[in-house]
Amino acid sequence: MKAKKIMTSLKAKHPGESEFLQAVQEVLESIEEVYNQHPEFEKAKIVERMVEPDRIYTFRIVWVDDKGQVNVNLAYRVQFNSAIGPYKGGLRFHKAVNLSMLKFLGFEQTFKNALTTLPMGGGKGGSDFDPVGKSNDEIMRFCQAFMYELWRNIGPDTDVPAGDVGVGGREIGYLCGMYKKLAREYNTGVLTGKGMTWGGSILRPEATGFGALYFTNHVLETNGDKLAGKTVALSGFGNVAWGAATKAKQLGAKVVAISGPDGVCEIPGGITDEMIDYMLDMRASNRNKVEDMATKFPGAAKFTAGKKSWSVKCDIALPSAFQNELSLADAQELVKNGTKYCCEISNMGCQAEAIHFFQSQKGFIFAPGKAVNAGGVATSGLEMTQNAEHISWTPAEVDERLHHIMESIHEQCVKFGKQADGTIDYVKGANIAGFMKVATAMLEQGII
Ligand code: GLU
Repeated sequence: MKAKKIMTSLKAKHPGESEFLQAVQEVLESIEEVYNQHPEFEKAKIVERMVEPDRIYTFRIVWVDDKGQVNVNLAYRVQFNSAIGPYKGGLRFHKAVNLSMLKFLGFEQTFKNALTTLPMGGGKGGSDFDPVGKSNDEIMRFCQAFMYELWRNIGPDTDVPAGDVGVGGREIGYLCGMYKKLAREYNTGVLTGKGMTWGGSILRPEATGFGALYFTNHVLETNGDKLAGKTVALSGFGNVAWGAATKAKQLGAKVVAISGPDGVCEIPGGITDEMIDYMLDMRASNRNKVEDMATKFPGAAKFTAGKKSWSVKCDIALPSAFQNELSLADAQELVKNGTKYCCEISNMGCQAEAIHFFQSQKGFIFAPGKAVNAGGVATSGLEMTQNAEHISWTPAEVDERLHHIMESIHEQCVKFGKQADGTIDYVKGANIAGFMKVATAMLEQGII
């Protein structure tokens, strides 16, 4: 494959889309070898087709805030790839959202969804709307205005959005309410992450974090190690960190750090159930400050402004906040402090140099977001199935399926990532496994 040539042309076509180019570069690096063994991929220009989204909707959102002022935001839905099924992926509301960010997320989502074994294509959307400091009414008005634009372009069998950073159960509720009003369709399968009484799947809120810990558990076991008794540093305190903290604690690990844009909260005695519950209040407050945890639990949690979770000594680092949140310097600090594992829960949470550094350290294991965090979208897939069948499964049924899916993703990583020296390259494993599925599906469906 002419990976360099493809990258050069992509950079020329999309200058400045740094996150998107970073995500493509990582996949191309991993798949080069297998691609060269399949001349039929080259002939059908599979990679050249895969790196461009099927289509992108860009729209303007106008809404009125509590002071009566008019606000204008930009919004997008990137329908990236439908070879495996309807477009599927979350919506991100964050002030830094731009097309590069959503294209990288949509590209990653395509491979992640392929890994889940469920029939879902890849998509992503969102807006540069900043939920920080917004009232509940403002959030509702914004969500309604967003759906007013998007509703014609989505549907249970075409494109199924869900949550992501800044979009949780509350936002999905407002979005879904408006969708139903506009479309006059009351089968709620058009969005996932819904409330439990109106079509949401049990365990969906916890699923990304739970799945990530099931995956981490497999990583440790495959390495002859165990999770119980290990110290874990998480970043962020949102929905994903909350689910991860809950399951880490249940599996006997000790969560010693969470963080926010304002700094880190160190919890030397390990996070408690009360603290985990309080994470939900912190997110609902829209203040976006982790310091609130230390204020609420003085003595047990110690806040340091301007520091990251990666400054806290831990066995396992679990980035669970935002892309590129873990730099080379952070990776070096973690390794210096004795960390042995980094399982990315955020999408592309580690910078490329940090990953290369981790992989250069003998005995250190790094696993990428598209494998580790796939339990979230997988459970969204299970929600779609329940909606289509008009039934709901019990917590045990959903949890068992989630377990099984995470195990299968881990197996795929091992199968495609096993190196000559017996170690497992999880980045290669996840990328090759996802790529082979999407590429084969595209090939079999002809030149379209
Ligand atoms: N935003 C999540 C992700 O990055 C979940 C997407 C979904 O459930 O559709 O995978």
